[in-house]
Amino acid sequence: MTGTPSVSTRLWLRAPLAILAEDAGGGIVVEGSRIVELVASGGQPSSPVDETFDAARHVVLPGLVNTHHHFFQTLTRAHPLAINKPLFPWLKALYTVWDKLTPEAFRLATRLAYTELLLSGCTTAGDHHYLFPKGLEQAVDIQAEEARALGIRAVITRGSMSLSERDGGLPPECLTQDDDTILEDSERVLRLFHDTAPGAMVQIGLAPCSPFNVTKRLMRESAALAERHDCRLHTHLGETLDEDRYCLELFGQRPVEYLEEVGWMTGRTWLAHGIHFTTDEIARLGRAGVGVCHCPTSNMTLASGQCRTCELEAAGSPVGLGVDGSASNDSSNLMEGVRHALMINRLTYGAEAVSHRDALRWATEGSARCLGRSDIGRIAAGCEADLALFTLDELRFSGAHDPLAALVLCGAHRADRVMVAGRWRVLDGRPLGSETGRLREEHSRLARHLFGTV
Ligand code: ZN
Repeated sequence: MTGTPSVSTRLWLRAPLAILAEDAGGGIVVEGSRIVELVASGGQPSSPVDETFDAARHVVLPGLVNTHHHFFQTLTRAHPLAINKPLFPWLKALYTVWDKLTPEAFRLATRLAYTELLLSGCTTAGDHHYLFPKGLEQAVDIQAEEARALGIRAVITRGSMSLSERDGGLPPECLTQDDDTILEDSERVLRLFHDTAPGAMVQIGLAPCSPFNVTKRLMRESAALAERHDCRLHTHLGETLDEDRYCLELFGQRPVEYLEEVGWMTGRTWLAHGIHFTTDEIARLGRAGVGVCHCPTSNMTLASGQCRTCELEAAGSPVGLGVDGSASNDSSNLMEGVRHALMINRLTYGAEAVSHRDALRWATEGSARCLGRSDIGRIAAGCEADLALFTLDELRFSGAHDPLAALVLCGAHRADRVMVAGRWRVLDGRPLGSETGRLREEHSRLARHLFGTV
């Protein structure tokens, strides 16, 4: 057993049951926040270590990377106003309650979502927060504070809505902000929290919510701001056929043409969902290096459609995975998302075309590429020591033969240990620094109080 390694400690995770890395059957050596050595089967580290952790019971994955979520929606899961609806009616129903979001509830929702993600083996959590009702102007600050407290890596995208019903958009006016306020706050949070160095624990991206709720000016100026601050751009695009119709009616163009016009066809951009693209649009997105976050669970729940993952990857687009907001999932479990990705993509492409390794690659390396990160998402010397360790001790794994395949096919959903930047953040299936019982109690109490319908 071992505790939290200090910065100078050399820790050997010895001879895991299985590991998602080449030539690392003997395990890996972690020093400080990084992986410094892969050890071949039967081998020893090249120089002495301070601590050894026997990983014989563990299947070791690179920490999963979540590239799309809306943490606040954990407060409105399985909401009677919204269940059994497709996206647009689902959104309109929830807009009527989301304006009640308070800073206290948002902090708990953030803590709960980070914790759920960590427990599922996620070490980098992306969130797309676009709701800034009066009093919640410091939402990004809250998310950065909570990430630091839990020790999870975070990519927080400053979302926004500026086109209300009055101007042809979808949300009510009370949930929107004006473009100048949004841009000013975007610059503020970039200055305060955005770290461009390798190994960054907190990064900021800019994320106008979608074509149906922001102005084109906001899209254009966000792209310019992202260029100046070297940050990523993120938005929802190509999620539903309703969005296609909306864009054609309001702008006389399809969503990808819209993206081109506002200057977002760049390698800085990654899109949530990316379902309804033509073959020609996929080629254009791939050429530009635009990434796509595949959200299989949400896409099946809202019956939005199937992202053309294989064609997008072949065209050159990074493809990652995301759980999406917890009102359309309704969970924050990224390992469950990996399993869903495998299943829905097999249904589309065939059982031999998509393997458990593809689904795991989307959730790790693919997601990291969407975020523009080469320091995470892989188990390799020089990468950050972000790791998820699973045991196969539950009944669901009994009789399984290939340990890596078993994680996905038998439905692993909870990591036994999680390491972020060389530090254990989950031990024996429990998050350090978060009391899950109390958290659940307080979060569910506020969810009922603010958003309950009875
Ligand atoms: Zn979303």
